[in-house]
Amino acid sequence: MKYYNKSSEEVMEILEVSIEGLTEEDVVKRRAEHGSNQLDETKGDTALKVFINQFKDFLVIMLICAAIVSAILGKYESTIVVIFVVILNALLGTIQHIKANNSINSLKALSSPISKVLRNKIKKEIPSIELIVGDIIFFDAGDYISADSRIIESHSFQVNESSLTGESESATKERELIDQEDISIGDTKNMVFTGSYVTYGRAVAVVTEIGMKTEIGKIASMLENAKARKTPLQETLDNFGKNLSVAILIISFLIFCIDIFRNKPIVDSFMFAVSLAVAAIPEALSSIVTIVLAFGTQKMSKSNAIVKKLNAVESLGSISVICSDKTGTLTQNKMKVQKLWLDNKVIDSNDIYGNFEISNKLIKFSVLCNDAIVSDGNNIGDPTEIALVNLGKLHNIDEQEIRIIHPRIYELPFDSDRKMMSTVNEYNDASIMITKGAVDTILKKTHKIFTSNGIETLNDEYKAKIQYDNNMLANKGLRVLAFAYQEYRKNYRPTLNDEDNMIFIGLIAMMDPPREESAKAVSDCILAGIKPVMITGDHKITAISIAKQIGIINDEAQALEGHEIEKLTDDELFDIVERISVYARVSPEHKIRIVRAWQRKSMVVAMTGDGVNDAPALKQADVGIAMGITGTEVSKEAASMILTDDNFATIVKAISSGRSIYVNIKNSIKFLLSGNAAGIFSVIFASAAGLAAPFAPVHLLFINLLTDSLPAIAIGLEPHDESIMKEKPRKRNDSIINKDFIKQVSVQGGLIALATMSAYYIGLSGGNQLVARTMAFATLCLSRLFHSLNCRSKSSIFKIGVFSNIFIVLSIVIGGLMLLFVMNYPPLMTMFEVSLLTGIQQLSILSLSLMPLFVIQGYKHIKVDDKILNSNFDEKPGFSDVA
Ligand code: ATP
Repeated sequence: MKYYNKSSEEVMEILEVSIEGLTEEDVVKRRAEHGSNQLDETKGDTALKVFINQFKDFLVIMLICAAIVSAILGKYESTIVVIFVVILNALLGTIQHIKANNSINSLKALSSPISKVLRNKIKKEIPSIELIVGDIIFFDAGDYISADSRIIESHSFQVNESSLTGESESATKERELIDQEDISIGDTKNMVFTGSYVTYGRAVAVVTEIGMKTEIGKIASMLENAKARKTPLQETLDNFGKNLSVAILIISFLIFCIDIFRNKPIVDSFMFAVSLAVAAIPEALSSIVTIVLAFGTQKMSKSNAIVKKLNAVESLGSISVICSDKTGTLTQNKMKVQKLWLDNKVIDSNDIYGNFEISNKLIKFSVLCNDAIVSDGNNIGDPTEIALVNLGKLHNIDEQEIRIIHPRIYELPFDSDRKMMSTVNEYNDASIMITKGAVDTILKKTHKIFTSNGIETLNDEYKAKIQYDNNMLANKGLRVLAFAYQEYRKNYRPTLNDEDNMIFIGLIAMMDPPREESAKAVSDCILAGIKPVMITGDHKITAISIAKQIGIINDEAQALEGHEIEKLTDDELFDIVERISVYARVSPEHKIRIVRAWQRKSMVVAMTGDGVNDAPALKQADVGIAMGITGTEVSKEAASMILTDDNFATIVKAISSGRSIYVNIKNSIKFLLSGNAAGIFSVIFASAAGLAAPFAPVHLLFINLLTDSLPAIAIGLEPHDESIMKEKPRKRNDSIINKDFIKQVSVQGGLIALATMSAYYIGLSGGNQLVARTMAFATLCLSRLFHSLNCRSKSSIFKIGVFSNIFIVLSIVIGGLMLLFVMNYPPLMTMFEVSLLTGIQQLSILSLSLMPLFVIQGYKHIKVDDKILNSNFDEKPGFSDVA
């Protein structure tokens, strides 16, 4: 159906909807007919598919082959054990995959777009997925268009349709019908389409198509497949994992050759070599990262930070600069008018009666040139405008009544580049254009002033007085708006040029106090080696006053204005960027230059933004942060994190979580690699010493099953360590696997191997090979379980407490019980090739398994705990990872 060549009334008739919108019953009926407003994305894998995928690993296939050959040779027991272990491993992998996916999906749902519609005659916000054909929908600057819709009413409405047409310039859209056939999307000026977004103005429209029937739905199959990309950390680990796998495969192959050379049966040797490879290759590296990130981000969402892209967590941990908006993020955004400036003087907002004519006009204008509504205590709109509506109410001017008396006939909406807005209202027998905006902008555009003497020339003396009083108000941290007006003939449609020809009437100053938690968050930031930078559209003096109150600056020389940035080249900005902590009167394009300047200094930058024009800066930043309450849909789409409370303190908390998650991932990996290294070291040592292999293949598989992913995930869930915010941020290019890390893995792996081989020798001293193997197996298994306690934190467990991570305790208990079961339950003993041990032997296993724990914990207690304590008082926090 073509809607563009019908009038909007006809379209509404065809869609059986009135200007009052759909009722909830209509919605239910229509949903049954049209379904939900969704594109058919590639469906997620079923649990069965995920399970089957676990068997696609080359080594697992080799292992199954070896098990089959061993069955053919009549060794059923080891076949059963291998198959059992492989299935259990696959099951564990499937559960982890599904859990991680579920938590990622629930996060996605939290950040899904919303639309404003009229339902049951009430304007409300709904998830865009619930839009239905016939919905009356409202669009404002910064909104995403989530359904194809025909315009009913528009005001300076402009839309960016580049995702459909490739055209990056915004297109103006109006309701007039188009009397043509077969026109392109770009020419369909009376409709808007899913996938585009509003860059300017506002409109009301009726939804004509949803989901796959929209224009973008028709080409959806051609769209880039939105496959989850690996995070940089996962890529690094994948590469590292691949190199390590090659090395382990070579070692396993050599061991296989040596075994054959020593006349061992070929199938047994093969099974051992493959089991060794399976146990030693850390196949879980990348999936551990996904799981820890998924769980970590779920936890962060409960503290008001919704991470949209997993790799943002990695960047969060290394943020060294936060560029934050002022209004609403560092301040409360609960504005209240305190002072008025009119007729050459400042008066209190309660005390207008001596200047009634001018003040009444000023307040009336501030309510007319205003989109906010306050009804029954419900505030709808921008807090700046809500403050003005409340001022009106204080002086018996009701916004709804006055807007009926002086209906709006035209408007030039607010945008943060112009820093002003204008409306045209019917006013007696004429039209009146009212403009409100930043004082400096309005002063540049006005040449007359309305005073008690009538309209006078706005001479330099007046201007100086206004500037002086404005600075005085701003110095108190007040946000000041200027007002101007001009009368025109009835139904006059002004242009932007008319804003240059206005009569100044007055100023209104409002208080927006800093959030209570801002000062503490700023000092936490500084302690954590992160530079907080305020970037605001507000006046420089207001910005400096607020910045001083919360500790961002102590010297006014650290503030710069947008027009000053304009005069600087990129190189000059690069030179001074470290000295500037407050940017005032900036436009969105300045934000991008500031981010780039910091990034050239190798800093990792977080940038907040809420407007439609902030999207490029949010994308340029390492972590773009959008405001959940006041942010536009476009900024939310461009950001990698959304704050559901718009609060600066939440960013600092999120950075702390990002740092902890990164450390937890690093510790999990350290645990996996050091445990695997211990196995390999033991086998290599035995082979070099001409001893029989210390483990049977089933031992290696059992150890792999029990001591790999469960404790590794438990380490990933380690609670946040407060001291992490007393360290410097990680450098942009710091690799997780550096020299220091490899040294630790080798030393710790070596200690566990030492314990294992000591147990083996004790067993061998009794002359029984089976006992020796049993002891080596049990020691490796148990010491790896205990080793998980070593990998929890830099600090010793004396400092952090054994039970502060209950998941680790649980994984040790589960692992220990299973080991006990395998070692003492006769049917399992035969299957797992273990012999019954004496009490002394069991005691030796326990003490040897505890040896690496004691050594490493003792070292941490003596060497590290103290250092952490001292670092709290260090001027330059941060120290190298020593244990
Ligand atoms: P921040 O960038 O910290 O959020 P901000 O809210 O002051 O600060 P903008 O919204 O870009 O930034 O506003 C810039 C300036 O435009 C304000 O300082 C004010 O002078 C003016 N302004 C803000 N809101 C309005 C409005 N609704 N109508 C007219 N002018 C406005």
